[in-house]
Formats: sequence, structure tokens, C-alpha cells
Amino acid sequence: MSKALFSLPPAIRKLAAELARMPSIGEKSALRLAYNLIMRGDDLALTLAEALVQAKQLTKLCRRCFALTQEELCPICADPMRDRKTLCVVEKPVDITAIEQGSGFRGVYHVLHGLWSPLRGMSPEKTKIPELLTRVRSGEVQEIILATSTTVEGDATALYIAREFNGSSITMTRLAQGLPKGGELEYADQLTLQHAFSGRRSL
Ligand SMILES: [Zn+2]
Repeated sequence: MSKALFSLPPAIRKLAAELARMPSIGEKSALRLAYNLIMRGDDLALTLAEALVQAKQLTKLCRRCFALTQEELCPICADPMRDRKTLCVVEKPVDITAIEQGSGFRGVYHVLHGLWSPLRGMSPEKTKIPELLTRVRSGEVQEIILATSTTVEGDATALYIAREFNGSSITMTRLAQGLPKGGELEYADQLTLQHAFSGRRSL
């Protein structure tokens, strides 16, 4: 923290320091946000604090697919109309939101909560890959759509999972066409996502 900030009340400094821990929020933005929250005339700071605590306390991971939910099963896993034979593997919960908005996909999901990355010390065991293997081997899945990002780590993770099911009857497909190299699902538009799903290729 820069020296100038020490002229501020400790509580504001603390708030700014916590805000600055958020991705893409620098020290200056954090300070501006902290000032704004405290100085404005309405009760945004209090309602925001309350919403934060509630969201943190009430949100958990779906016990089947590891999406965010307030129940034991997320709405997609609990929906009997979804096609359980088609499983889409994504890295982050936010990817589900993107796919649900854009692609017309009617299967179910599995969220990895990370990618296999030896360089960053991310072994498969630190992700939900082991849970995926167990789930697929004991279940009714016939096709796995690997929708991890088209980065080095996203590709490596997709190949790692595909290898685990080598020789099985499960169809493995990969979203690629239409998605820009390095493209993250959450930033893809609706048409791009539709093309990525309909043009998925076998691994
Ligand atoms: Zn679920």
C-alpha cells in the first residue's frame, strides 16, 4: 500500500485493501470504490455487505456436477427433462451460464474447478477430474463434450480426460470450431457457441 493511504482512517484502508484483492481491481480503483461505498447517501454499503454474507453462506457446490447451487442438486441436475447421456465438461461454473444462454445444449454438466497444469502445480487430483471419472464409469453417459478453453492447459486437460476413456464406448468430442484460439467460453457470443457445439469434433 502506498504512503499516501496512511492519511486515511484505518477502516477505509482495510476496506480498500480487501477490495484490491479482487481480480482486475488495482489500488486506485479499490480506493475509489471504498470512498464511494462509504460516502454515498443511500444504504448500498450495508445491503451489499448483507448480500455478500448471504451469497457466501447459502451457496454450495452441486453434489453431482459441482455447479453452484443452494440445494443439494443444481436446477439442471434436478431437471428430469435434461439429457443425462450427454455430459459437457467445463472449467468454471460461469461457463455453464454462457452455454445455457447461447448454445441450445440440453445435456448435463461437470465443472472441473481448475485445469490440469503441471507447470502451476495443478495435478488432476486438485480438480474435479477424479469425480468425473467415477461419475462417468458408474453412470449412463454416452458422450462427453470437452468444453475446456482452447488454451494449452484447456487442451491438455481435454486430452488427459479423453485418454482415460480410450477404448471405451463413450464418444469424446471437443468444442473448437468457431472458438478463437485461447478463447474462454464465458466471452463467446451466442452464434459462436451454437457453431462450437454443432461443429464439435471427435477426439
Ligand atoms: Zn448439478
